[in-house]
Amino acid sequence: AEAREAYVAARPKSAAIHAKAREVMPGGNTRTVLFYTPFPTAMVRGEGTTVWDADGHAYLDLCGEYSAGLFGHSEKRILDAVKAAMDRGINLAAVGEKEGMLAALICGRFPSVEQVRFTNSGTEANIMALAGARGFTGRTEVMAFRGGYHGGVFTFPVGVPVSAVNLPIPMRFADYNDPAGAAAAIREAGDKLAAVIVEPMQGSGGCIPATREFLQALRDATRETGALLIFDEVMTSRHGYGGLQQRMGITPDMTTFGKYMAGGMSFGAFGGRRDVMAVFDGHKPGALPHAGTFNNNVLSMAAGCVAMGEIFDEAAAEAHFARGERLRAALNAVCAKHGLAMHFTGAGSMLNPHFRTGPVTAPYKAAPAEEQMRELFFFDMLAAGIYLARRGMAALMLPTTDADCDRFVAAVEEFCAARKPVL
Ligand code: PLP
Repeated sequence: AEAREAYVAARPKSAAIHAKAREVMPGGNTRTVLFYTPFPTAMVRGEGTTVWDADGHAYLDLCGEYSAGLFGHSEKRILDAVKAAMDRGINLAAVGEKEGMLAALICGRFPSVEQVRFTNSGTEANIMALAGARGFTGRTEVMAFRGGYHGGVFTFPVGVPVSAVNLPIPMRFADYNDPAGAAAAIREAGDKLAAVIVEPMQGSGGCIPATREFLQALRDATRETGALLIFDEVMTSRHGYGGLQQRMGITPDMTTFGKYMAGGMSFGAFGGRRDVMAVFDGHKPGALPHAGTFNNNVLSMAAGCVAMGEIFDEAAAEAHFARGERLRAALNAVCAKHGLAMHFTGAGSMLNPHFRTGPVTAPYKAAPAEEQMRELFFFDMLAAGIYLARRGMAALMLPTTDADCDRFVAAVEEFCAARKPVL
């Protein structure tokens, strides 16, 4: 209650922005993830790894726009590319040169991607990948995993009955990181199953990496039944030059992308085997439609070419992954030192706290006491000038420094010391 009161007292402008928006938007926002009570902090500016809220507080931005902010708020090469594209006209109602260039960059680095098409978001990328898989296989059902998140309507919380999942596609669900159970479920579905979609690390579900054994079981079982294996790498593609699939050494049939790839502009993409992607080839009779006014918008395409072609190269991807691994180890050392039921999971530059002792290898429904700790952690970090996702997730940016990481570790140490009695 005390933390909440301090939060409210320091943010009259954020409160006013929320109150006004609430009149005309249900919940006062247009992204579920940005909703929290009593009202969310409104941000008005960002530069490098710093963001400023409406009331003038500065924060170290560790939220990193939920992983879409990889390049920071003012990467000059991205800004230059966007400005140059703008100067030549924003929407040209035509194919351009940049989309082929960006497609070549993506096909050149992700093992599973021979061809690719663009969308406006990761959600759409998944919708289109599933449509493609159904078109290619002539089957209807799709399997996903409890705790998974594939965007918009594709939210599958643990503990919610399948019947409550409001999707126009017949779905089956299995447990994440349960190789035997998932393989059995895939075999049982047999030739009804068009696709299995999985995050190689559940991102929204709490930064829980898949084991190689689990992904291999999915690979083997889908090969047997003819279902397509789709890796949702919307978040995890940053975990290596060729994504987490390359790091794990497992190649799916299709992969979906989003988030950072267009330098922070709106983006999504789905790609995969040439024979599968051929269902969208307009040169062939009966090709599946895939339209979208902004699919090849010139700002995203131009920024994407620079982001993927010039900035996020192999060395940058490796260094970024390593920095995240070091940070998670340092945070977990602090939690262990204080003997708390708290630790961080994740891979590379993305991590998430769990208010229980580890290891956490599968999604779970948190107890009310754990949720309370999560809330306290978020508000305490804000008070310390550190901006995280409300669930506590951090997604480092390329300009995030070791000093920034040290600052976060120190803030977590303070949290541990101060909140020890309640944890
Ligand atoms: N898939 C995963 C794994 C995601 O984490 C997200 C977004 O957080 C999406 C898909 C949806 O992407 P978008 O928000 O661009 O629609």
